Amino acid sequence: MEKQINLNLARKWRPQTFDTVIGQDIPIRMLKNSLYLNKFFPVYLFAGQRGCGKTTTARIFAAAVNCLNLLAFQQDPQQAMPCLTCSSCVAMANGNHPDFIEIDAASHTGVDNVRSIIESSSYMPLSGQKKVYLIDEAHMLSKAAFNAFLKLLEEPPKTVMFLLATTETQKIPITVLSRCFQLIFPAIAHEELKTLLLTMCEKEQIEIEPAAVDLLLQETDGSARDAINLLERVRFSGEVISEALVLTVLGKISNRELITLMTHLVNQAPQELISYFNEINSQVRAPAALWDGLINLCRTLLWVKYGVNTLPQAYHSVETEVKVLAAICSRNRLHAILTFLWEQEAIFNRTNKKQLFLETVLLQLCEQTNIADLSELLGSLPSNRGNSGSGTTALAKSKTVVSLPPAAESLTAPIETVAPTSVLEAVRYVQPQVVTETSGTDMRWHAFVALSSELQDQLLVSIFKQASLVSHTEGAPTVLISLSSDSPFFKSNIESATALWLPMLKQCFKGATGLTYQAPSASSVKTPFPRQPIASAAAPFLNREAPATEYNAPQLYQKRESGDFLVIKDAQEWPTASLLLTTFSGKIKKVANS
Ligand SMILES: [Zn+2]
Repeated sequence: MEKQINLNLARKWRPQTFDTVIGQDIPIRMLKNSLYLNKFFPVYLFAGQRGCGKTTTARIFAAAVNCLNLLAFQQDPQQAMPCLTCSSCVAMANGNHPDFIEIDAASHTGVDNVRSIIESSSYMPLSGQKKVYLIDEAHMLSKAAFNAFLKLLEEPPKTVMFLLATTETQKIPITVLSRCFQLIFPAIAHEELKTLLLTMCEKEQIEIEPAAVDLLLQETDGSARDAINLLERVRFSGEVISEALVLTVLGKISNRELITLMTHLVNQAPQELISYFNEINSQVRAPAALWDGLINLCRTLLWVKYGVNTLPQAYHSVETEVKVLAAICSRNRLHAILTFLWEQEAIFNRTNKKQLFLETVLLQLCEQTNIADLSELLGSLPSNRGNSGSGTTALAKSKTVVSLPPAAESLTAPIETVAPTSVLEAVRYVQPQVVTETSGTDMRWHAFVALSSELQDQLLVSIFKQASLVSHTEGAPTVLISLSSDSPFFKSNIESATALWLPMLKQCFKGATGLTYQAPSASSVKTPFPRQPIASAAAPFLNREAPATEYNAPQLYQKRESGDFLVIKDAQEWPTASLLLTTFSGKIKKVANS
């Protein structure tokens, strides 16, 4: 049997009656009431995004106004309207109704066109009860045209009706708007459009996978007309329309591929990024689509970050992948990526070498310093540390924190020159050129110390402040440092908080993935129970005078004050705290569990 192929699906499936218009219940009800009550306004405004049914509904309304069976509808609103059978409706369907004039304002913007409308509107309708003018894309009319039109709207002839359709209501002068009966057409819901397309495909004997329908709709942004036109294009490219086929026809990559690309980007892996970009490049025949895809993906990732439960329709099938990606990408990073893309978009649109530009932008984004992540990381520190299971130190578990003695409160003072007060200020310390211009390798460690000083974990901050850089070759994975004490407690404390400081280390030391430790040099070696504070260049805050008794080991556990501070009498009961006191001239403060 030969397949019957309709070459213009959009025209064939264009609704002819109110009941076949989908997803526009409220404006349809308003128009039907207008017809039922026989109350007509001189000007109606049909506003809404493209392809949501404005112009179609306006045509149906125009047909209904002049339908010879309107009276029957007014007596029995269950009757179909327009009837589609009377001579007026037939003339409308054939596009030769003498009282229906459709004008595309996009191509008739001038005042002369409006003047001819004004002139012709003074004639009585030829066959119907009203002369109906449908002005499509009404916002395109010139200012002069609107002014001329306004005079007509102020005193419209009773037998004339204007239907204005627009996608951009804000461009219509307020003086005109205030004279309109406004109908707002919302975007058609995805499910409604999907049902329509599936029904259409069944009737037209088009084999299509539901996922392909989702993709068609996603591509056409809720426009029924665009979706049907795209279906028309795709249907000739294969027996069964699959998601992959739609992507190929569109010259686009899938969201799954986009996520992989983005993962390389946020992981700051330029090599992988370039090779993957080249791998998918043969499919990327529409660089603009990839650009939009990146923006949409970032937006979706932000939704996840802000706890939105329902992701945009396009990402339903890759929800898990999106959430995994969101977990390794901070909000600030996403905002930074989006801002950069918006900033570059004008250039992207202008350039003829879009692929090349895209690659450059991706690399720039990939290299973009992760500094934005830091403030977020810092902001979430207390909860992070408190909630993390294995990585939490005994100190954090008992909710006991070190309250630094007065001397230590100003512990940043000696290295103030390199300690930025804010994360933003820290940026200048991690800019490679700044680092090289100043004093070489030490500057990188200072930058790291400066960054890490923002950490809430004061113990960790102190350990880093007292440590010094031994060596690091650019690109090498490990940074060799010397701690002020060889105490295993220091190392375990550093290691248990790797997740917190590693991103900062990576920013300051190119290629670094961890720290290694060198035994402290003889001059700065501290015994586990030092008799007195050690004056060391690497331990600035310990220069402060503290009573020698504070360090007297045997007395250590008895001489603590009570009150706000914890009385440490038994080293067995408070192993971590007592170990702490061997190194820091502080007091242990108990913080109530909240
Ligand atoms: Zn009729």
